[in-house]
Amino acid sequence: MKIKVLGSGASEGFPAIFCNCDSCIKARKAGGKNIRTRSQFYVDEDMMIDFGDDTYYHSLNENISLSKLKYLLITHSHIDHYNPTIFRYRGGYYATELYESVLKVYSTPTVKEIYENMDRGKPMDEVKSKIEFNVPAEFVPFSIGDYTIHALQAIHMKNEKCYMYLVEKDGKRVLFGNDSGYYPDETFEYLKGMHLDLVFLDCTFGLHSYGINSSHMGIPENLKVKERFYENGTADDSTVFVTHHFTHTCGSTHEELCEETEKHGLLVSHDGMLFEL
Ligand SMILES: [Zn+2]
Ligand SMILES: [Zn+2]
Ligand SMILES: [Zn+2]
Repeated sequence: MKIKVLGSGASEGFPAIFCNCDSCIKARKAGGKNIRTRSQFYVDEDMMIDFGDDTYYHSLNENISLSKLKYLLITHSHIDHYNPTIFRYRGGYYATELYESVLKVYSTPTVKEIYENMDRGKPMDEVKSKIEFNVPAEFVPFSIGDYTIHALQAIHMKNEKCYMYLVEKDGKRVLFGNDSGYYPDETFEYLKGMHLDLVFLDCTFGLHSYGINSSHMGIPENLKVKERFYENGTADDSTVFVTHHFTHTCGSTHEELCEETEKHGLLVSHDGMLFEL
Protein backbone atom coordinates (compact mmCIF):
# COMPACT_ATOMS: atom_id res chain seq x y z
CA MET A 1 0.00 0.00 0.00
CA LYS A 2 1.16 3.52 -0.81
CA ILE A 3 -0.07 6.18 1.59
CA LYS A 4 0.54 9.86 1.02
CA VAL A 5 -0.17 12.55 3.57
CA LEU A 6 -1.71 15.31 1.44
CA GLY A 7 -2.35 17.65 4.39
CA SER A 8 -1.17 17.44 8.00
CA GLY A 9 -2.77 20.48 9.66
CA ALA A 10 -5.92 21.14 11.69
CA SER A 11 -9.01 22.96 10.42
CA GLU A 12 -7.53 26.48 10.26
CA GLY A 13 -4.30 25.30 8.58
CA PHE A 14 -0.84 25.98 9.97
CA PRO A 15 -0.03 28.87 9.61
CA ALA A 16 -3.66 29.58 10.40
CA ILE A 17 -5.60 31.33 7.69
CA PHE A 18 -6.25 34.61 9.56
CA CYS A 19 -3.60 34.39 12.30
CA ASN A 20 -0.41 36.27 12.90
CA CYS A 21 0.70 34.74 16.20
CA ASP A 22 4.39 33.98 16.76
CA SER A 23 3.89 30.35 15.67
CA CYS A 24 2.23 31.35 12.42
CA ILE A 25 4.86 34.01 11.68
CA LYS A 26 7.59 31.41 12.32
CA ALA A 27 5.87 28.83 10.13
CA ARG A 28 5.38 31.29 7.25
CA LYS A 29 9.03 32.29 7.45
CA ALA A 30 10.42 28.76 7.73
CA GLY A 31 8.13 27.27 5.04
CA GLY A 32 8.79 23.64 3.97
CA LYS A 33 7.43 21.10 6.44
CA ASN A 34 6.08 23.91 8.63
CA ILE A 35 3.36 24.64 6.09
CA ARG A 36 0.47 22.35 6.96
CA THR A 37 -2.66 22.28 4.82
CA ARG A 38 -5.87 20.61 6.01
CA SER A 39 -5.74 16.88 6.79
CA GLN A 40 -6.21 14.46 3.90
CA PHE A 41 -4.70 11.11 2.81
CA TYR A 42 -4.30 9.48 -0.60
CA VAL A 43 -4.08 5.67 -0.81
CA ASP A 44 -2.89 3.69 -3.86
CA GLU A 45 -4.14 6.32 -6.29
CA ASP A 46 -7.78 5.32 -5.94
CA MET A 47 -8.80 6.14 -2.38
CA MET A 48 -8.88 9.29 -0.26
CA ILE A 49 -9.54 9.78 3.41
CA ASP A 50 -11.52 12.99 3.90
CA PHE A 51 -12.58 15.64 1.42
CA GLY A 52 -12.11 19.05 2.99
CA ASP A 53 -11.24 22.58 1.98
CA ASP A 54 -7.82 21.83 0.49
CA THR A 55 -8.89 18.94 -1.76
CA TYR A 56 -8.59 21.02 -4.94
CA TYR A 57 -5.17 22.38 -3.95
CA HIS A 58 -3.94 18.86 -3.10
CA SER A 59 -5.15 17.52 -6.44
CA LEU A 60 -3.13 20.18 -8.27
CA ASN A 61 -0.09 19.93 -6.04
CA GLU A 62 0.14 16.14 -6.26
CA ASN A 63 -1.12 15.79 -9.82
CA ILE A 64 -4.18 13.77 -8.78
CA SER A 65 -7.04 13.33 -11.23
CA LEU A 66 -10.08 13.45 -8.93
CA SER A 67 -12.35 12.13 -11.69
CA LYS A 68 -10.52 8.79 -11.39
CA LEU A 69 -10.94 8.48 -7.65
CA LYS A 70 -12.92 5.32 -6.76
CA TYR A 71 -13.27 5.35 -2.97
CA LEU A 72 -13.69 8.13 -0.48
CA LEU A 73 -13.88 7.69 3.29
CA ILE A 74 -15.14 10.70 5.27
CA THR A 75 -14.57 10.80 9.03
CA HIS A 76 -16.96 13.57 10.17
CA SER A 77 -18.65 16.78 9.11
CA HIS A 78 -16.08 19.38 10.24
CA ILE A 79 -15.29 21.41 7.17
CA ASP A 80 -11.60 20.48 7.09
CA HIS A 81 -12.79 16.88 6.53
CA TYR A 82 -15.90 17.40 4.42
CA ASN A 83 -16.52 20.52 2.41
CA PRO A 84 -20.16 20.03 1.41
CA THR A 85 -19.87 22.03 -1.80
CA ILE A 86 -17.19 20.04 -3.66
CA PHE A 87 -19.47 17.36 -5.11
CA ARG A 88 -21.39 20.05 -6.97
CA TYR A 89 -18.53 20.22 -9.46
CA ARG A 90 -18.64 16.54 -10.42
CA GLY A 91 -21.16 16.72 -13.22
CA GLY A 92 -23.25 19.09 -15.34
CA TYR A 93 -21.27 21.71 -17.21
CA TYR A 94 -18.64 21.74 -14.40
CA ALA A 95 -17.41 18.28 -15.42
CA THR A 96 -18.52 17.18 -18.84
CA GLU A 97 -16.90 13.75 -19.03
CA LEU A 98 -19.01 10.65 -18.64
CA TYR A 99 -17.75 8.73 -15.62
CA GLU A 100 -16.80 5.13 -16.15
CA SER A 101 -16.62 4.29 -12.48
CA VAL A 102 -18.85 5.10 -9.56
CA LEU A 103 -17.32 7.20 -6.78
CA LYS A 104 -18.13 5.20 -3.66
CA VAL A 105 -18.36 7.42 -0.61
CA TYR A 106 -18.40 6.02 2.93
CA SER A 107 -19.25 8.40 5.73
CA THR A 108 -21.04 8.98 9.01
CA PRO A 109 -24.84 9.39 9.11
CA THR A 110 -24.49 13.18 9.56
CA VAL A 111 -22.24 13.62 6.54
CA LYS A 112 -24.74 11.69 4.40
CA GLU A 113 -27.60 13.78 5.77
CA ILE A 114 -25.77 17.01 4.91
CA TYR A 115 -25.10 15.69 1.39
CA GLU A 116 -28.73 14.74 0.87
CA ASN A 117 -30.12 18.01 2.14
CA MET A 118 -27.70 20.33 0.39
CA ASP A 119 -29.12 21.25 -2.94
CA ARG A 120 -25.93 22.98 -4.08
CA GLY A 121 -23.71 20.32 -2.55
CA LYS A 122 -24.85 17.72 -5.10
CA PRO A 123 -23.68 17.36 -8.70
CA MET A 124 -25.90 19.07 -11.28
CA ASP A 125 -26.52 15.74 -12.96
CA GLU A 126 -26.59 13.03 -10.30
CA VAL A 127 -27.13 10.16 -12.74
CA LYS A 128 -24.12 10.92 -14.94
CA SER A 129 -21.86 11.90 -12.07
CA LYS A 130 -22.25 8.47 -10.42
CA ILE A 131 -21.78 9.11 -6.73
CA GLU A 132 -22.87 6.37 -4.33
CA PHE A 133 -23.15 7.39 -0.67
CA ASN A 134 -22.91 4.71 2.02
CA VAL A 135 -23.01 4.74 5.80
CA PRO A 136 -21.14 1.77 7.22
CA ALA A 137 -21.88 0.63 10.76
CA GLU A 138 -19.00 0.93 13.18
CA PHE A 139 -17.08 -2.25 13.98
CA VAL A 140 -18.51 -4.14 10.97
CA PRO A 141 -15.83 -4.71 8.31
CA PHE A 142 -16.74 -4.35 4.64
CA SER A 143 -14.89 -4.92 1.37
CA ILE A 144 -14.39 -2.49 -1.49
CA GLY A 145 -12.11 -3.53 -4.36
CA ASP A 146 -8.98 -5.04 -2.80
CA TYR A 147 -9.56 -3.23 0.50
CA THR A 148 -11.20 -4.24 3.75
CA ILE A 149 -12.40 -1.24 5.73
CA HIS A 150 -13.38 -0.98 9.37
CA ALA A 151 -15.18 2.14 10.64
CA LEU A 152 -14.16 2.75 14.24
CA GLN A 153 -15.73 4.95 16.87
CA ALA A 154 -13.85 8.19 17.56
CA ILE A 155 -14.32 10.60 20.48
CA HIS A 156 -14.68 13.97 18.86
CA MET A 157 -18.08 15.70 18.64
CA LYS A 158 -20.77 15.63 21.32
CA ASN A 159 -23.82 15.43 19.05
CA GLU A 160 -22.41 13.59 16.08
CA LYS A 161 -21.07 10.13 15.45
CA CYS A 162 -17.46 10.46 14.20
CA TYR A 163 -15.45 7.68 12.55
CA MET A 164 -11.83 6.72 12.19
CA TYR A 165 -11.00 4.18 9.49
CA LEU A 166 -8.84 1.10 9.55
CA VAL A 167 -7.80 0.21 6.00
CA GLU A 168 -6.48 -3.27 5.16
CA LYS A 169 -4.91 -4.42 1.91
CA ASP A 170 -2.35 -7.06 0.91
CA GLY A 171 -1.95 -8.18 4.51
CA LYS A 172 -1.14 -4.67 5.79
CA ARG A 173 -3.25 -2.53 8.14
CA VAL A 174 -3.30 1.25 8.49
CA LEU A 175 -5.28 3.21 11.07
CA PHE A 176 -6.27 6.73 10.04
CA GLY A 177 -6.96 7.89 13.59
CA ASN A 178 -8.28 11.38 13.32
CA ASP A 179 -10.05 13.44 14.51
CA SER A 180 -10.31 11.96 17.99
CA GLY A 181 -9.48 12.34 21.62
CA TYR A 182 -8.26 9.30 23.56
CA TYR A 183 -10.19 6.38 22.04
CA PRO A 184 -13.27 4.81 23.64
CA ASP A 185 -12.96 1.32 25.20
CA GLU A 186 -15.07 -0.17 22.37
CA THR A 187 -12.43 0.88 19.83
CA PHE A 188 -9.54 -0.48 21.90
CA GLU A 189 -11.45 -3.75 22.41
CA TYR A 190 -12.23 -4.13 18.71
CA LEU A 191 -8.57 -3.65 17.82
CA LYS A 192 -7.36 -6.19 20.39
CA GLY A 193 -5.00 -8.66 18.72
CA MET A 194 -5.36 -6.94 15.35
CA HIS A 195 -1.79 -5.99 14.50
CA LEU A 196 -1.42 -2.57 12.87
CA ASP A 197 1.46 -1.68 10.56
CA LEU A 198 0.95 2.09 10.43
CA VAL A 199 -0.99 4.35 12.80
CA PHE A 200 -1.81 8.04 12.32
CA LEU A 201 -2.72 9.68 15.63
CA ASP A 202 -4.61 12.94 16.14
CA CYS A 203 -1.94 15.18 17.69
CA THR A 204 -3.71 18.52 17.34
CA PHE A 205 -2.20 19.93 20.55
CA GLY A 206 1.39 18.88 19.82
CA LEU A 207 3.44 18.73 22.99
CA HIS A 208 0.53 19.99 25.13
CA SER A 209 -2.19 18.04 26.90
CA TYR A 210 -5.78 19.11 27.48
CA GLY A 211 -6.55 15.91 29.35
CA ILE A 212 -7.82 12.46 28.53
CA ASN A 213 -11.39 13.69 27.95
CA SER A 214 -10.63 16.23 25.25
CA SER A 215 -11.90 15.96 21.66
CA HIS A 216 -8.34 15.95 20.31
CA MET A 217 -5.00 14.68 21.59
CA GLY A 218 -1.45 15.82 22.17
CA ILE A 219 1.72 13.75 22.55
CA PRO A 220 0.89 12.72 26.17
CA GLU A 221 -2.42 11.11 25.06
CA ASN A 222 -0.79 9.65 21.93
CA LEU A 223 1.65 7.84 24.20
CA LYS A 224 -1.24 6.46 26.25
CA VAL A 225 -2.85 5.10 23.05
CA LYS A 226 0.48 3.58 22.02
CA GLU A 227 0.89 1.94 25.41
CA ARG A 228 -2.61 0.43 25.31
CA PHE A 229 -2.06 -0.81 21.75
CA TYR A 230 1.09 -2.60 22.95
CA GLU A 231 -0.80 -4.15 25.88
CA ASN A 232 -3.61 -5.29 23.55
CA GLY A 233 -1.42 -6.84 20.87
CA THR A 234 -2.54 -4.10 18.46
CA ALA A 235 1.02 -2.81 18.06
CA ASP A 236 4.59 -3.93 18.57
CA ASP A 237 8.01 -2.57 17.68
CA SER A 238 7.30 -3.06 13.97
CA THR A 239 4.31 -0.65 14.09
CA VAL A 240 5.01 2.84 12.80
CA PHE A 241 3.27 5.61 14.78
CA VAL A 242 2.81 9.01 13.14
CA THR A 243 1.51 12.11 14.93
CA HIS A 244 -0.79 14.19 12.74
CA HIS A 245 -3.33 17.09 12.41
CA PHE A 246 -1.47 19.92 14.17
CA THR A 247 -2.98 23.27 15.15
CA HIS A 248 -0.99 26.53 15.18
CA THR A 249 -1.59 26.97 18.93
CA CYS A 250 0.52 23.89 19.59
CA GLY A 251 3.31 26.46 19.26
CA SER A 252 5.98 24.07 17.93
CA THR A 253 7.85 24.02 14.66
CA HIS A 254 8.12 20.74 12.73
CA GLU A 255 11.70 20.38 13.95
CA GLU A 256 10.73 20.94 17.61
CA LEU A 257 7.96 18.35 17.32
CA CYS A 258 10.36 15.84 15.72
CA GLU A 259 12.94 16.34 18.44
CA GLU A 260 10.44 15.52 21.21
CA THR A 261 8.52 12.72 19.48
CA GLU A 262 11.67 10.87 18.40
CA LYS A 263 12.41 10.20 22.08
CA HIS A 264 9.15 8.22 22.21
CA GLY A 265 9.47 6.42 18.88
CA LEU A 266 6.85 8.53 17.09
CA LEU A 267 7.13 10.28 13.73
CA VAL A 268 5.67 13.67 12.83
CA SER A 269 3.58 13.91 9.66
CA HIS A 270 4.10 16.63 7.09
CA ASP A 271 2.45 17.51 3.80
CA GLY A 272 3.75 15.20 1.08
CA MET A 273 5.01 12.48 3.47
CA LEU A 274 4.91 9.08 1.77
CA PHE A 275 4.72 5.56 3.22
CA GLU A 276 5.04 2.33 1.25
CA LEU A 277 4.01 -0.86 3.02
ZN1 LIG B 1 -9.88 18.17 11.76
ZN1 LIG C 1 -1.34 31.43 14.77
ZN1 LIG D 1 -12.91 17.65 13.60
